[in-house]
Amino acid sequence: MERGKTLTVDLVLHNAKVYTSMGIVEAGVAINEGKIFRVAKEPNLPLASAESNLKGYLLLPGLIDSHVHLRDQQLAYKEDFSSGTAAAAAGGVTLTIDMPNNKPVTMDVKSLRERMNLAKNRSVINVAFYSAFPENLEEIHSILREGAVAFKLFLSQMIGGLDIEDDDALLQAFNEVRKRKVPIAVHAEDKGMIERMGEKMQRLGRKDLEAYLEVHSPEAERRAVQRAIQLVKKSGVHIHFCHVSSAVGLETILTAKDMGLPVTCEVTPHHLLLTSEHLKSYGIMALMDPPLRTKEDVEALWSALKHGFIDSLASDHAPHTVEEKESGSVWDARPGIPGLETMLPLLLTQVNEARLTISDLVRATSEMPAKILHLRDRGSVIEGCCADLVVVDMRREYEIDSSKFYSKARFSPFDGWRVKGKPVKTFVNGQLVMDEGEIVAKPGTGQIVRW
Ligand SMILES: [Zn+2]
Repeated sequence: MERGKTLTVDLVLHNAKVYTSMGIVEAGVAINEGKIFRVAKEPNLPLASAESNLKGYLLLPGLIDSHVHLRDQQLAYKEDFSSGTAAAAAGGVTLTIDMPNNKPVTMDVKSLRERMNLAKNRSVINVAFYSAFPENLEEIHSILREGAVAFKLFLSQMIGGLDIEDDDALLQAFNEVRKRKVPIAVHAEDKGMIERMGEKMQRLGRKDLEAYLEVHSPEAERRAVQRAIQLVKKSGVHIHFCHVSSAVGLETILTAKDMGLPVTCEVTPHHLLLTSEHLKSYGIMALMDPPLRTKEDVEALWSALKHGFIDSLASDHAPHTVEEKESGSVWDARPGIPGLETMLPLLLTQVNEARLTISDLVRATSEMPAKILHLRDRGSVIEGCCADLVVVDMRREYEIDSSKFYSKARFSPFDGWRVKGKPVKTFVNGQLVMDEGEIVAKPGTGQIVRW
């Protein structure tokens, strides 16, 4: 399209403080056909069919949450594409990458296609998909052709068709993925160690939270990280470590980074803001895997984040019913908490308290997730990029109340926390999908993002 006075674009957002690569600038943003058409001062903005005044608000790239369990299908009682993407929109998240441990597991073209078809009609934000590894490694290529953006490997339990106890099989799979240059996201906990410790605790009749922490230990994380890194050395594949929680796990990753190996890592808001002391006071509702750690672990994560060593922040939104969370002992309870609606307000609060800079927030929640997943036209407010945006009010204070979540999982260890900084509008593909907490777009407004 040519620049000129007669041009009319779809939408102009006026008077915002816009987060750009040059810092925060007072500007307007013109949007056309779902893309950012221009970021400019008032006189240089084109005419528009629709306009919105964002005076007093900060405009950021929408969050790309690279660790989300949207469930649906046989797990729709926990969450479905409609409730999960509404939760995302409410939380300023414009693209979620869906994890494959579903029922059925996303691990071949058929199961991936089925999820894409469901998501297409039900989602209000954009959705992309991880796949677990197929049994037949040849299928890796057809899964990528179908549009999965990355693979997910659980080293704590076998999900998908790959025998995780066989290093040769892992190496073969890594070599296949290496040919296509997509990353493998890894849940790093050592299966053998977890099983041995678990059996020991069962024999001792232990059912307490402390026993869960001993089974899912920092050492189990470190060992799995170490094992994955050995395979990175042999294959050259890009490994993205999910939800790093311990100082020793982190240290092992940072050593590999120092060596120039292609590894990146992610941390969740709950591992940054809660410790195992919170787990003891909140009980099983705050149980997740990996679990909350000590104050020293949390400090190590913060220090790495401030030094730019943590590549991304992701929610690990893992919805369950309250009944499942409360059922029986720690060994029966489902690990995981919802996070899509709390991630951005919690992080903005950290910005307001000067523990986190706004540029570190944007880097870790938008820019780097886009880069890690090779989504070239996403994650920044620049001309030509997809118009996936979140408008935040940095001064708005409120209390987190899980009973108001769009997610079906209406519980949170952050319930009652006072936060300062709120997403007030979310735009996806140039369309307003959330306005002051209301979902204003139709299901199907979101698109499937393919590799
Ligand atoms: Zn997860």
